[in-house]
Amino acid sequence: MKTALVIGGGVAGCAASHQLMQLGGWNVTLVEAAPFLGAGLRTFHYGGHPYTFGPRHFLTQNRRVYDYMNAICPLRSCAEHQFVTYVERDNAFYNYPIHEDDIARMPDRDKIAAERQAATGVAAAKNLEEYWIGSVGRTLYEKFIDKYNKKMWLVDDNSEIDTFNWSPKGVTIKSGPRAAWDTAISAYPYAADGYNRYFDIATVGVNVLLSTRIERYDIPNRTVWIKGEKKSYDLIVSTVSPDELFERCYGELRFIGRDFHKIVFPTEHVFPEHVYFLYYANDEPFTRLVEYKKFTHHKSPTSLVGMEIPSLNGKHYPLPFKADQELARKYLELMPDNVYSVGRAGSYRYGLDVDDCLEQAMVMATQIKEGGRDYPVPLEIWR
Ligand SMILES: Cc1cc2nc3c(=O)[nH]c(=O)nc-3n(C[C@H](O)[C@H](O)[C@H](O)COP(=O)(O)OP(=O)(O)OC[C@H]3O[C@@H](n4cnc5c(N)ncnc54)[C@H](O)[C@@H]3O)c2cc1C
Repeated sequence: MKTALVIGGGVAGCAASHQLMQLGGWNVTLVEAAPFLGAGLRTFHYGGHPYTFGPRHFLTQNRRVYDYMNAICPLRSCAEHQFVTYVERDNAFYNYPIHEDDIARMPDRDKIAAERQAATGVAAAKNLEEYWIGSVGRTLYEKFIDKYNKKMWLVDDNSEIDTFNWSPKGVTIKSGPRAAWDTAISAYPYAADGYNRYFDIATVGVNVLLSTRIERYDIPNRTVWIKGEKKSYDLIVSTVSPDELFERCYGELRFIGRDFHKIVFPTEHVFPEHVYFLYYANDEPFTRLVEYKKFTHHKSPTSLVGMEIPSLNGKHYPLPFKADQELARKYLELMPDNVYSVGRAGSYRYGLDVDDCLEQAMVMATQIKEGGRDYPVPLEIWR
């Protein structure tokens, strides 16, 4: 039997383990620093209410990954969810991406129309601010983008954000149907404990070491030290920040984390019927509120809302700055044969979501099975 080490037991590590077990012929060990699998996707309870860290809804364009998750964790559609943002200046909730219908009801629509007319385009944009102002004009930039991105990325000036292909996912202003990602499948598990069953099923037969960290790495030789013991593997799949595997030899990769707060409201429902979570684009410190009942259908006379505040706690969001991405690339290029670096931190890619983690694991399994480096990969995946 060949041996594999999977580092990190979030959805990416669990999916990689599952794919290897399904291939057969692999003895898989998964090492997870926390005392549980699933990381932020794991469902916990507060006041009897199930919740995850953030919305963690299953949003995908990929039918294959949907079918895979749905077979293990049956998923309920939440396609009705409307993506909306609170804009304090107008004291209004507007669709996001910005929608023509909302612009038509803004008090300053004439000014916005003139700015859009005069907008110089995005061809020469060098940073997020220039991209947005060049595309939609200053007023819409100030309402939706300016303060949100400053707090999201903990910067004083959005001109520091020198990549912008991640936002706004190709759309600056929409018209027509309101649902933001209306071509995607949007879903959430039916089960009261959310995705938890997935982590159990995905790791059947896997040697899972919880509350465990790798003490030392020798990646070129696919060797690590765990609990004082030196161990070598035929394959390593890492889902942690790639700098960690090489003793940060080029310097530390930066991430934005999240502080998370839970608030129970004394009412059965807090948000309007088709709003599962809300974005806030103003001076308030939080970026997003989630009303969990919308996803979980939990029955209670009270309702739980989660609040996310950007911070330096945790490695949740790789930075969309050229220098940080270049640094990540240098680390990823050090990965030898049979060492994969996948998942959000492992790929150092903001916007790499749950469905992408599953897809990466499937692609990895196909590459391993077919023994070829030339198998076409739909996502950038590093090995
Ligand atoms: C707040 C928030 C909300 C989100 N909401 C959505 C959403 O609604 N829909 C969606 O599709 N995507 C969402 N995402 C993105 C998506 O959840 C992530 O892309 C995905 O969960 C990443 O999984 P992962 O396994 O790569 O990383 P993680 O979930 O971060 O897992 C990494 C694991 O590795 C462990 N670990 C770290 N270092 C070590 C170490 N040295 N040794 C051992 N273990 C280690 C950690 O404890 C953790 O369990 C959200 C992300 C965040 C942060």
